[in-house]
Amino acid sequence: MKFIKSQAELDEVLESLRTDGKTIGFVPTLGALHEGHGSLIARSKRQTDFTVCSIFVNPTQFNESTDLAKYPRTLDADKALLEEIDCDLLFYPDVETVYPNGFSDSPDIDLQGLDEVLEGAFRGGHFDGVVQVVKRLLELVKPSHLYLGQKDFQQFSIVQFMIDYYEIPTMLVVCPIKREKSGLAMSSRNMRLTPRNRERAVIIKRTLDYAQRRLKNHFVKEVRAYAFNRMKIDGFRPEYFEIVDGRTLKAVESMDESDYIVACTAVWAGEIRLIDNKIYKKPKTK
Ligand code: AMP
Repeated sequence: MKFIKSQAELDEVLESLRTDGKTIGFVPTLGALHEGHGSLIARSKRQTDFTVCSIFVNPTQFNESTDLAKYPRTLDADKALLEEIDCDLLFYPDVETVYPNGFSDSPDIDLQGLDEVLEGAFRGGHFDGVVQVVKRLLELVKPSHLYLGQKDFQQFSIVQFMIDYYEIPTMLVVCPIKREKSGLAMSSRNMRLTPRNRERAVIIKRTLDYAQRRLKNHFVKEVRAYAFNRMKIDGFRPEYFEIVDGRTLKAVESMDESDYIVACTAVWAGEIRLIDNKIYKKPKTK
């Protein structure tokens, strides 16, 4: 596996591949890699000729500096995992490479309210940072395919909007959520959970499943409130449980309102904020 920090080195490797007509798959991450990231890399390896994974803890998407400081950094273990799964290249740029003109150079794009709901309502400026970094990484890597996880449902919706808006010639592929045996969605943050909270965090997935069953004979409004309250167990604080249209991300009042419906939730487990989602209704073409 190649390990590259600079744009010049990256260009050198990728330009020759592009000249040879090879497809390039790209998996951007914040590091502290786990099987969820591994599944994106595996998918890219199946579908493209050359797979690039990036690790960059992007300062502009963290709205709390303590969260940025505490974000786990495990480069040696990450490299070992990437070697094991035979990723072709790890791009590990520093802040100056990603933001040569400083942080303020951010894209001016109206996200049509996609960034104002769910995560956006609680993490001000988060998606400005996400759009800024993904746009910049796509400029650096210029991949034919971009692999993101359904785990961050709102993130991929916004990135797809941005790709369409700027007409970036990259195909976005969304990969299913990888879960621990318990059902807890894998996340780099899970390693910071206390053992007790890690066990109890299964309530999130169970609530997503339970709410879906309950929708068969209850109103959306009731299910939403019920699910939210169900996760108020000792030491846990749900932030939202929303049932939304999968395209606009706006809350729905009835399951008949759209052919694409997703439940999204964020819950504090002690000091750690966890997110998860489940697609309740999927359009035939998706
Ligand atoms: P992160 O390092 O958390 O920014 O995640 C990098 C990419 O991996 C994003 O596209 C995430 O949606 C995806 N990802 C994170 N956790 C999972 C998971 N449990 N299953 C599938 N994809 C995931």
